[in-house]
Amino acid sequence: MPELSALEICRLAPSQVYRALTTSPQGLSADDVRRRTIRDGPNSLQALRRTPLISRFARQFTHFLALLLWVAAGLAFLADALHEGQGMATLGWAILGVILINAVFAFLQEYKAERAVQALRNLLPAKAWVMRDGQQQQIARSELVPGDVLILEEGEQVPADARLTEAVGMRVDNSSLTGESKPQRRIAEPITDGHPLDIPNLVFAGTTVLSGHGQGVVFATGLKTEFGKIARLTTTVQTGLSPLQQEIVKVTHVVAGLSLVMGLIFFTIGVGMGLGFWTSAIFGIGIIVANVPEGLLPTVTLALAMGSQRMAARKALIKHLASVETLGCTTVICTDKTGTLTENRMRVDKLYVDDLVVESRESCLFTRNRLISAAEAERWRPLFDAMVHCNNAKRTRRPDGRSQATGDPTETALLEFAADHGLLHRPPLRRMGELPFDADRKRMTTLHWGEGRLLAFTKGAPESVLPLCTRQQSSSAVTELTLDERKKVLAQGQVFAQQAYRVLALAMREVERGVEELDADTVEHGLTFLGLVAMMDPPHREVPDAITTCRRAGIRVIMITGDHPLTALAIARKIGLAQESVVTAPGRFVPVIEGSQIDTFSDDQLRRLLTPTSPGEPDPIFARMAPRHKMRIVSVLKGMREVVAVTGDGVNDAPALKTADIGIAMGVAGTDVAKETASMILLDDNFATIVSAIEEGRAVFTNIRKFITYVLASNVPEVMPYLAFGLSSAPLALTVPQILAVDLGTDMVPALALAAEPPHGNIMDEPPRPRTERLLNREVLVRAYGFLGLIETAIAMGGFFLYLHSQGWTWGTPLDWNAPLYKEATTVTFAGIVAAQAANVFACRSDRTSAFRLGWFSNPLIVVGIVVESTLLLILTYSPVGHWVLGTASLPAWIFIPLIVGAIGLLLADELHKLVGGRLKARQPVPAK
Ligand code: ATP
Repeated sequence: MPELSALEICRLAPSQVYRALTTSPQGLSADDVRRRTIRDGPNSLQALRRTPLISRFARQFTHFLALLLWVAAGLAFLADALHEGQGMATLGWAILGVILINAVFAFLQEYKAERAVQALRNLLPAKAWVMRDGQQQQIARSELVPGDVLILEEGEQVPADARLTEAVGMRVDNSSLTGESKPQRRIAEPITDGHPLDIPNLVFAGTTVLSGHGQGVVFATGLKTEFGKIARLTTTVQTGLSPLQQEIVKVTHVVAGLSLVMGLIFFTIGVGMGLGFWTSAIFGIGIIVANVPEGLLPTVTLALAMGSQRMAARKALIKHLASVETLGCTTVICTDKTGTLTENRMRVDKLYVDDLVVESRESCLFTRNRLISAAEAERWRPLFDAMVHCNNAKRTRRPDGRSQATGDPTETALLEFAADHGLLHRPPLRRMGELPFDADRKRMTTLHWGEGRLLAFTKGAPESVLPLCTRQQSSSAVTELTLDERKKVLAQGQVFAQQAYRVLALAMREVERGVEELDADTVEHGLTFLGLVAMMDPPHREVPDAITTCRRAGIRVIMITGDHPLTALAIARKIGLAQESVVTAPGRFVPVIEGSQIDTFSDDQLRRLLTPTSPGEPDPIFARMAPRHKMRIVSVLKGMREVVAVTGDGVNDAPALKTADIGIAMGVAGTDVAKETASMILLDDNFATIVSAIEEGRAVFTNIRKFITYVLASNVPEVMPYLAFGLSSAPLALTVPQILAVDLGTDMVPALALAAEPPHGNIMDEPPRPRTERLLNREVLVRAYGFLGLIETAIAMGGFFLYLHSQGWTWGTPLDWNAPLYKEATTVTFAGIVAAQAANVFACRSDRTSAFRLGWFSNPLIVVGIVVESTLLLILTYSPVGHWVLGTASLPAWIFIPLIVGAIGLLLADELHKLVGGRLKARQPVPAK
């Protein structure tokens, strides 16, 4: 196949395009595809160049905190060389070890987090519709080859550069290539000249179809596309830190600053007490590095990534880590009905035709329980023709040989109905044009040629179609549609809607020959009403429970649907969103608001409508909404400082998705445009999944708090020995290497285990966390430093003095730092902190719920953490390596008994604290939200 440039291909007539690209309207054969894939490669862009792993690893040795550690190690070696401090070289080596362990750990965490986020991207492979071997098929975009016949629908991203051979009302957004966001019209006719990106019969990879649909032949794929040429220039992708990550950086800096002050104070005290300059300096730096939460940022990043992985397992795909945290703060969910609250699996149940309600049961039609024969049904042929022809769904053959309709669920339901009842058999009319469905107009019209006539079929919401009708079709004749008849039809539509049916009206007219351009003014008037179709779309099974959970969790759910108010209300009742009895008296709360009313409201009125006057008051239901109304509601809610999550699927939903705090697109029914704009994608299009994701979002935040509480608590028993040493004549109960062994050794795995806690049952019993709430608030600091930390100090230092006294030491007796008794006693302090932290990890699993109620094995990582922690303690206490690096000494077994009793005491004290705290909280009145 000769390679053709965009300028050559745009000049050809559609029929010549197929020949030039050696393909046909039936598409390529499997053999052609194989050969072209070998020749042209896959339709993907070369993987973007990333920072090499080695330099990312090197970065772990050069950040601020690592530099601090380097300085400390350097000073230790210098002191040793100057013979200024005892065992300073050992300390130097210990700090170097810490730098290495820290770097490896941080690197692995970051790498794991990045891999997790990347794996999520592959969960939603990009697809394209093509004709191959005469069949319409959906394939992965990467499998497209030049010559493929591409089918493009509204909202899709164009997967490769293609020359259009068919275009119906098509407009594209080329802004990703040209920066120009004005929609551009696309046609199939030949064009002689122009700049390639402006030629209206070409579409380019990376751009999107804003409206209409079309068909084209691919002429460039992968790096040969215009988009590929630009992507070649791109090198690395920069991703910023999420607000929570930024806060962690701030927390790290605050804690580092505090440690610096403490280090300086200790240095001054040391020098004042005659410890010598070098020894005091090293201990001062030891204090600083021991208290700085070095591993916090990578652990938080990993916690966010693990949270998004857990969300993906529950079918919510998060596109940016920042959204994980925002989700936890969500206060309002604005949700569509069709496909989110309901299954979007529609089925035609009833028709209203010829003044009769006709029911469809098991492929038969009945009226008042009387079976209607096929011959009888033939009299309603115009209605069936409209259902089949004013329809873009397609019947395709499945691998098992059976036919199946694919496309918009409303339209597939019409096609399936016709197929089920054997109504497809007439020779198809030739489609001449289309006014595509549009959520604002709520109708669509198609134009056809057949049997020497030009026919237009219209279908849509009854209020949108009926005003265009002047006549109606009965079995025997076409008669005038009188006012009474019109009322009767609308009343029947309301009866269907009250029964939770989605209702469509169908109409037709013969169009004068010579109508060149299909537009609403020339065609959509003087129509003949054919009948109503009622479709059932049942709610997802999980939705009622999810709505109840939202209520418990203080999250408001607002339905915003394009459907009829009565259908919306009927579904709202089914899922527990609306009460059985609804008050609509003037001046009272009106629960169902229509789009036309919204247009008359000022922002203030809308704000009042959206402000609940009392807790538990049902939120209004918004029906017959156009995308612009949705956008307005979202903006007003945001102005009310609500954290708004919004669902959407169409191109027109993109502005609302972008404006919301969390834009949620449907993974199955959503367009590429919606998915591109959204921050979260529902892989199963189910409302209940949003609620699960919010639960995970809340869990991530509380988990990060849990491990921060855990890590900060151990800082107190680490610092207290130094304060005691500085302020009294007490011997120093803990050495700097032992502090580092706790922070960067024994504490590591249990802290990670806390970051992986599954959400606890009661996490959705509390109101949403205010977005302004700090991670490190007073409650966390008091619990970590003032409560848990102090008990840990009592255990560790109590153990230290108990051991000294048991060995005959008395207060005031000087202790040689190299004496075996001193080494054993400091090892007891070290063991005491580790034992206390083992109990603390259970205490930190929740700040409210009793550790005994959470189940000991509900987070297996905790058990792993305790095992690793205990093993490390034993190795460091009893092995020569431990003795050499940490200056520890082997301990007699009996000393572990008071340490373990102390640890159990910590857990019990925390239980008591939770019990009393819980009781006090229960007595407080619940603040009105
Ligand atoms: P939601 O906004 O909750 O997804 P929806 O799907 O009913 O609800 P729209 O897609 O805006 O919202 O549809 C609004 C109305 O337009 C429907 O109630 C129906 O009467 C009509 N309609 C929907 N799909 C089509 C279609 N393919 N052709 C013609 N009319 C349609």
